[in-house]
Amino acid sequence: MSALIRTRFAPSPTGYLHVGGARTALFSWLYARRHGGEFLLRIEDTDLERSTPESVQAILDGMAWLDLYADAEPIFQTHRFERYNAVIDTLLAKGLAYRCSCSKERLETLREGQMQRKEKPKYDGRCRHQSVDANAPHVIRFRNPTEGAVVVDDQIRGKMIFANSELDDLIIRRSDGAPTYNLSVVVDDFDMGITDVIRGDDHISNTPRQINLLRAIGGTPLRYAHLPMILGDDGSRLSKRHGAVGVMQYAEDGYLPEALLNYLLRLGWSHGEQEIFSRQEMIALFDLNDVNRSPSSFNTEKLRWLNQHYLKEADLSRLATLLRPFLARHAITVTDDDHLQQVIAAQRERAQTLVELAEVCRFYYQEFADYDAAAAKKSLTPAALVPLQTVHQHLVALSEWQRASLHQTVSDTVAEWGVGFGKVAMPLRIAVTGGAPSPDLDLTLSLLGRERTLARLERAISYLGAL
Ligand code: GLU
Repeated sequence: MSALIRTRFAPSPTGYLHVGGARTALFSWLYARRHGGEFLLRIEDTDLERSTPESVQAILDGMAWLDLYADAEPIFQTHRFERYNAVIDTLLAKGLAYRCSCSKERLETLREGQMQRKEKPKYDGRCRHQSVDANAPHVIRFRNPTEGAVVVDDQIRGKMIFANSELDDLIIRRSDGAPTYNLSVVVDDFDMGITDVIRGDDHISNTPRQINLLRAIGGTPLRYAHLPMILGDDGSRLSKRHGAVGVMQYAEDGYLPEALLNYLLRLGWSHGEQEIFSRQEMIALFDLNDVNRSPSSFNTEKLRWLNQHYLKEADLSRLATLLRPFLARHAITVTDDDHLQQVIAAQRERAQTLVELAEVCRFYYQEFADYDAAAAKKSLTPAALVPLQTVHQHLVALSEWQRASLHQTVSDTVAEWGVGFGKVAMPLRIAVTGGAPSPDLDLTLSLLGRERTLARLERAISYLGAL
């Protein structure tokens, strides 16, 4: 491709940036990056009743979190009414649009008649050839061509042909003077120099209308790619019911942005059997030809699996920073960053999200309330009392709290008692962790530190004494 590629993501700020929107954004972003082009963000906030500043913020936050940066400041449609109106006036002056004074009642009767005759509801063009007083209530309609067809060579779906006779004379300015959605989109795509429109397939029916409008304002048709929808695991369109929430909820739930990005990429796009893609790889490999033509299904298990992969890969100091707010939810503040990083390194393979990672790191920093019932039943039995007392004595006497010496101490106690390793190690592990998943015992003890280890042993010894 020779000319500069310019794509855009054009969300309507009427809710969160959800999974479907984020995927559209990612594909548009990747396509631009892949071709050395530009990616722009446009906030389609013309629906004043449904658009909210919170939703605009949620979109900006979500895009920033996923690092889908744009090459320019976002464009807000509400700032551009003057321009849209100027375009509408020009179309009027050129006879490419006309005033329509048909009443709501007339349009309703027309529609009912068409429905009864099983025809597609459509404006009959009564005002096309009439002059309507500019001071009387009216809307402005686009004079859609009546002959021929619009051919869309969709980059995903292939050729689609729409007969002009099937298309309506779109309203481009409402009776209150507000430009309409389709008009704004077309003027923006034109002014922003967009070359490729990548969006959900729920917009397919708008595409031929927008192409006709674009031609009328002097533009040439763009390339279009309509993405198949995303289904929930029950086969219906993905919605909140399936737990599909705003992108920032995934941050709250302890997902890493690179995991969600990788997940979104695979939601409808594939490259052989490969599952894991770095950002660089995504950019190098992304191609609209590899977008599936059929809908894809959301699968939380796979997202969790990817998140675990990225948790294992992530830089420890970054992970420590990311984990802190999750520890804070348990009222845990860690001052020693180096220690926290070691704890994370020891525990991260036992968690799929930051929420779970905080959970499995908790016992290093905070007393647990109770022993895990099953673990205690199995290992904290009266037979464990004397081995735990012995290991406690040895540990009290230990001069340096290092993995090697801790390992030696447990081994010595085992030898002293002439029992299997587990007879000492299991109760000891439950005594210090409460039953939480933990790494090698010597590592657990070394990370836990002398003070906590001894205190917990004493707690277990009194627990056993009271049995
Ligand atoms: N604002 C539209 C939406 O949120 C997208 C329009 C477009 O991409 O052309 O569905």
